[in-house]
Amino acid sequence: MKENLIIAIDGYSSTGKSSMSKIIAKNLGYTHIDSGAMYRAVTLYAFQHNYIIENKIDEQALVANLSAIKIEFKQDSSTQKNFTYLNGENVETAIRTMQISKMVSPISEIPAVRDYCVALQQEMGEKGRIVMDGRDIGTTVFPKADIKIFVTASPEVRAKRRFLEYQQQGKEISLDEVLKNVNERDYIDSHREYSPLRKADDAIEVDNSNMNLEETADKVMEIINARK
Ligand code: C5P
Repeated sequence: MKENLIIAIDGYSSTGKSSMSKIIAKNLGYTHIDSGAMYRAVTLYAFQHNYIIENKIDEQALVANLSAIKIEFKQDSSTQKNFTYLNGENVETAIRTMQISKMVSPISEIPAVRDYCVALQQEMGEKGRIVMDGRDIGTTVFPKADIKIFVTASPEVRAKRRFLEYQQQGKEISLDEVLKNVNERDYIDSHREYSPLRKADDAIEVDNSNMNLEETADKVMEIINARK
C-alpha cells in the first residue's frame, strides 16, 4: 500500500468539496489544503489595496504586488480547525463573504495569479499526505496525483446548500442571488483560457446531488481504499 498519497478533489463550487476533503484528511491523518482559500485571499488583498474598484480590477498593480502576498494555513491545536492567514492576519471569515465570492473568479482568471497560487500549492503538497481541493488540482497542480476525484451536483442543489449556509450565518442573501453567483463562477471557471475547471481524464466523477456530506465522504473513502 502506498503511503504519502496526493489526493486531488476538484469540482464545481458549493459541491461540499472542502468539507468532505476535511473529513477525508482527518480519516487518513493527512493535511487538508483548500486551494480556493488562496484565490479568495488574493481577492481580499486586491480589495484591501484598492486594486478592485466598482468591479474593475487593476490587473497590472495586483500582478506587480503579488510577491507582497503571504498566504499561510494554521491549525488551531484544540479544535483542529484550519485558518487562512493573509500577511499574518487570520482572514478565514473575511474571505467567505459574497463580496469576495463575486470577484474571486475574475481574479483567478489572471495567469500570474494562477502561477503564484499553483506554485504555493505545489510547494505545500509536494511531500504528499495531503488532500487538496480546488478546480485544477488533478489537471495542473498535481497531474500525477495518486487519486483524483471530480465532484458535481446540479446548480440548484449547490445554490440551495450555499444559501442555507449563509442563512445559518445570519447573512441575508436571496436564493436567486446565490444561484446567479454559482452559475457565473461555474461559467468563468470552466471557460477561462488558462487552466480551466475540467475533469481530468483519469478522475473519478462523484455526483452528490442526492447525497449528504457524510455519504459523499464515505463514497470517496471507498474509492480511495479501493485504489490504495
Ligand atoms: O473553492 P472555492 O469555491 O472557495 O473557490 C473560489 C474560487 O477560486 C473558484 O470559484 C475559482 O474561481 C477559484 N479557484 C480556482 N482554482 C482552484 C480553486 C479555486 O480557480 N484550484
